[in-house]
Amino acid sequence: MHYTHEHLEIQKTLRRFIDEEINPHVDEWEAAETFPAHEVFKKLGNLGLLGLNKPEAYGGAGLDYSYAMALAEALGHVSCGGVPMAIGVQTDMCTPALARFGSDELRREFLAPAIAGDTVGCIGVSEPGAGSDVAGLKSHARKDGDDYLISGQKMWITNSLQADWMCMLVNTGDGPVHRNKSLVIVPMDSPGIEKAKKIRKIGMHSSDTGLIYFDNVRVPQRYRIGEEGQGFVYQMQQFQEERLWCAASSLEP
Ligand SMILES: Cc1cc2nc3c(=O)[nH]c(=O)nc-3n(C[C@H](O)[C@H](O)[C@H](O)COP(=O)(O)OP(=O)(O)OC[C@H]3O[C@@H](n4cnc5c(N)ncnc54)[C@H](O)[C@@H]3O)c2cc1C
Repeated sequence: MHYTHEHLEIQKTLRRFIDEEINPHVDEWEAAETFPAHEVFKKLGNLGLLGLNKPEAYGGAGLDYSYAMALAEALGHVSCGGVPMAIGVQTDMCTPALARFGSDELRREFLAPAIAGDTVGCIGVSEPGAGSDVAGLKSHARKDGDDYLISGQKMWITNSLQADWMCMLVNTGDGPVHRNKSLVIVPMDSPGIEKAKKIRKIGMHSSDTGLIYFDNVRVPQRYRIGEEGQGFVYQMQQFQEERLWCAASSLEP
């Protein structure tokens, strides 16, 4: 990719931040099997690095996608996998669909604080019986007045033990499996959520990976991203940015 002076300056800013604020703590955070996501994200938010390609109306820089790739590439400078993955979840995994399809109200409530680094987000797709087979997920939401009542479970969810909200893919209807799902923003302090287990891994220890249970969790329907039933399609689009982020962040020598 051809980088301009601006791309390179952003990378320089991030690498300096990594040298000063992340790498000196990596051994400690890997040993602790967690890192202070709120603290690190706030500092990244202050540098304007959590919303490079997000709309300016919500605090983003409004730049094109090449700047997000430049950022992801420079995150490879972190001397572990867990912390950059957690940052990538915030910038490229749990916020792209919200930025693209969320209502103005939803973006003000959840996207703007995520870009500012005031909140930590996570993406809830995988379940014990639905990893690669996203269409087979079983979590479901039933309508109750203006709300959804969500039940089910999500597994291997990065950031989920520290997260303030989850962008959750859930069945909101009984139709064909590619047209019965919606993406819904679920505040992680909602009654009925149990952060059941921190999953131990063979690497990436500093990022927390959780098993989360949902038992009739009440969420307003206005927290749904975009159209009901389009969640599978939105998530497949969101996965494209996730996968490109993973590839780019592995490029740094
Ligand atoms: C560190 C870590 C962090 C994660 N963070 C998140 C997160 O934040 N949010 C989230 O939602 N999920 C997360 N996941 C879950 C991850 O997305 C799933 O592990 C992934 O989708 C694969 O699912 P699975 O592990 O159930 O494997 P499976 O789906 O059971 O696949 C096992 C193997 O079978 C192969 N396979 C599966 N289906 C087919 C097929 N039809 N044809 C041929 N081969 C096939 C796969 O390629 C794979 O090699 C995380 C996982 C890890 C390890």
